[in-house]
Amino acid sequence: MTTMRERRCVHCGDVYVFYPSGPPSESPLNDDRHCPVCKRAIIDALKAVPRKRVRVWVDCGVVSYETLKRWEAEWDEVREQKAREAAEDGRVYITAHRVHMPLFDIESGAVQRAKSVGGREDFAGRSFRYVYWTDDREPPRVEEEMEHNRETNDLRPWKDYPR
Ligand SMILES: [Zn+2]
Repeated sequence: MTTMRERRCVHCGDVYVFYPSGPPSESPLNDDRHCPVCKRAIIDALKAVPRKRVRVWVDCGVVSYETLKRWEAEWDEVREQKAREAAEDGRVYITAHRVHMPLFDIESGAVQRAKSVGGREDFAGRSFRYVYWTDDREPPRVEEEMEHNRETNDLRPWKDYPR
């Protein structure tokens, strides 16, 4: 479903259409704050600035698949509890899951999927995922979302900073 919102560009003041969802939302020029003309200028200007730190998923040596499955079950309990509490108050508790682009094996029909699991215990605030094939052709792979510093080649757990 495609949705549209009118917006006023924070830079040039022009009124434009912003697409929060649907195929047009995937355009790099679709932006909640800047019109397509200003967004194009921003993208072109930023091409001159190298990206110093990028998000990468790397094989994880600190947490096992069994631990991720346990955390996943614990998170499910937390979500169910919050949904029950919300329902008692007449509210709806909405959860969101990250979607990873799957791979398909055209010959067998198998699909490679990835499930994100938020870290718990000593790993609270860190992001993990397990990657598996629906036909179990190989053991699930456990990965952690890391910050790759392109200048020093260092890796550290990725951290988001609330805006
Ligand atoms: Zn503008």
